[in-house]
Amino acid sequence: MKIFIVTSEAVPYAKTGGLADVTGSLLKEFRKLGMDARLIMPFYSVVANSSETIDTGIRLPLNILSDNITASLLESRRNDYPAYFIRCDKLFMREGLYGTSSGDYPDNALRFSFFSRTALLAIRALSIRPDIIHVHDWQTAPVPFYLKNFYRDEPLFKDTRTVLTIHNLGYQGLFHPSLLSYTGIGLEHFVPQGIEFYGKINFLKAGIISSDALTTVSENYAKEILTEEYGFGLHGVLRERASRLYGILNGIDYTQWDPETDRSIPRRFSLRDMRGKKVCKRNLIKKSALKIKESQPLASFIGRFVSQKGLDLIEKAVPELIKAGFGLIILGSGERTYEEAMLNLYSKFRDYLYVRIGYDEDLARNIYGGSDIFIMPSRYEPCGLTQMIAMRYGTIPVGRATGGLIDTIQDYDHLRRIGSGFLFREYSPSAMIECLKRALCVYNRTSEWNKIIKVAMKKDFSWGNSALKYLSLFRTLKAQEPL
Ligand code: ADP
Repeated sequence: MKIFIVTSEAVPYAKTGGLADVTGSLLKEFRKLGMDARLIMPFYSVVANSSETIDTGIRLPLNILSDNITASLLESRRNDYPAYFIRCDKLFMREGLYGTSSGDYPDNALRFSFFSRTALLAIRALSIRPDIIHVHDWQTAPVPFYLKNFYRDEPLFKDTRTVLTIHNLGYQGLFHPSLLSYTGIGLEHFVPQGIEFYGKINFLKAGIISSDALTTVSENYAKEILTEEYGFGLHGVLRERASRLYGILNGIDYTQWDPETDRSIPRRFSLRDMRGKKVCKRNLIKKSALKIKESQPLASFIGRFVSQKGLDLIEKAVPELIKAGFGLIILGSGERTYEEAMLNLYSKFRDYLYVRIGYDEDLARNIYGGSDIFIMPSRYEPCGLTQMIAMRYGTIPVGRATGGLIDTIQDYDHLRRIGSGFLFREYSPSAMIECLKRALCVYNRTSEWNKIIKVAMKKDFSWGNSALKYLSLFRTLKAQEPL
């Protein structure tokens, strides 16, 4: 089966979040299963600076508002999976993927509609007949729309089916209607049954109404997005497509996230010999200059500083958690108000709280390795990778009962003494604090806590099963008529 994954980010080339982990892992897993899976993504400066590529000689011209923009198609020299890059320097050769710290790039509608269209032109120029084109989030959601409306009669795409994976419904690619002319999409599509959404262009909606199948990244989130509470205004459109909507849980790359081989942590460990975890904790406390005893619980947060991740709960809970005996570590970056709030707390509680603003994979690995508890108070969480990585490193998640956190964290049952973490329902600081105190009680009973660690570390979050589910969906789609 020939599969093209068209995405705005993929490990190891460019990453801003979980999307890159997922697309990178899927490519490897599909190939492991014998599929011909290939990547197409934009050629950003981060790719230019870190990867060796060759020019295929293929040129991809597009006419946009009587301007001729020509992209070139590059190919990676790495051999883990075939990867192609759309090179158009004036659109993609920039520091950020989607914007800078002051906001999104103003030409994102042009950038990602251009990328979505040239990706199809690239496949055509390569003369590879795709069985499946798998696109991800709003950035490439227009691909199925273009295929259906612009290229359906092309012989090369006659048997192609499209799949859109929604990693986060909170980001839809909404643009002012005046930008429609940059996308090449006619006004006749700017209607409620089309890509119009409350007076704006909605890229994600373009994919939702045009893909042969929709998937999202956990079974629970697939149900949640059909409700008003989690649907971000698209629940009605999604309900119409519910018979073609599937929840397939993300995995994590077990070769990349493994405390037994991780070179970033000071001492490696595994379930068979957990002594290294103590060394990791000691080292982390020292590095972050916390004045807590090694016996005190160390709870951490890693993630984007956006309202989705529940930072307002953390902000309000910090003083009480410190009073209860927790040491705390927070790593992330994002919205300025959260960054300032966290730094403000840091200046007040330096002995018990460490805050690092930024993106730092090495520190992240040390936090996963050296913490006891991983906090995830998300407002909503499509799947969440961090809680799975934490469990792999014997760090017990305390999270809100939402989305993929429900599918991956087994709430501790105090009577049966079994579970892999702790969940709370209500979105409030007090519910989060109470849940962390519940975890603290168990933490103080070492043998019980060790049992939770064992259950968490034994969980299988590798990609094997999920990749098979995608393949089985692809096969089903091939047997059906296209949309
Ligand atoms: P998201 O909603 O951002 O996609 P996920 O939990 O799905 O959240 O994935 C987040 C990924 O990004 C994980 O691999 C996590 O370790 C990583 N990550 C997030 N923030 C940081 C940071 N500040 N430094 C290092 N890694 C980070």
